Amino acid sequence: MRSYQGGCHCGAVKVVFENAVVPADLEIRSCGCGFCTRHGARTITDPAGHLELHAAGDAAMIYRFAMGITDFIICRACGCYMGALMEDDDDLFGIVNSRMLDDRGCFDGAATSRDYSAEDEEGRRARRRATWTPVTWRHDTDVA
Ligand SMILES: [Zn+2]
Repeated sequence: MRSYQGGCHCGAVKVVFENAVVPADLEIRSCGCGFCTRHGARTITDPAGHLELHAAGDAAMIYRFAMGITDFIICRACGCYMGALMEDDDDLFGIVNSRMLDDRGCFDGAATSRDYSAEDEEGRRARRRATWTPVTWRHDTDVA
């Protein structure tokens, strides 16, 4: 496993992305939805990897739209878009915005543009179960 640390600009939300393949083999996706486009997000995922998100206290703000099944994690203080999470059958899956990683330069290849607007909820959940990364999401108030 390779491990990449990162965080938002102010440091209140941290991320660790572990993935099983070399960066060059990870698809970098630029989703065409209005949210990702506005953020210029370049997301990555590895279903064989692991994603940990860690927010100090209530540092993270969750934004939902459209189907309402996805939590878009944004730092309340500095506005960085960290990544997105989806709960499904008590499992949590996610993607990370590669811009938030310290080694973001490893993921600066051409992004694949994706348009998921034709999916229904069942199709979206199935795709994410297969392609998104298992997540640990820690946002308790005990975090230093
Ligand atoms: Zn921040």
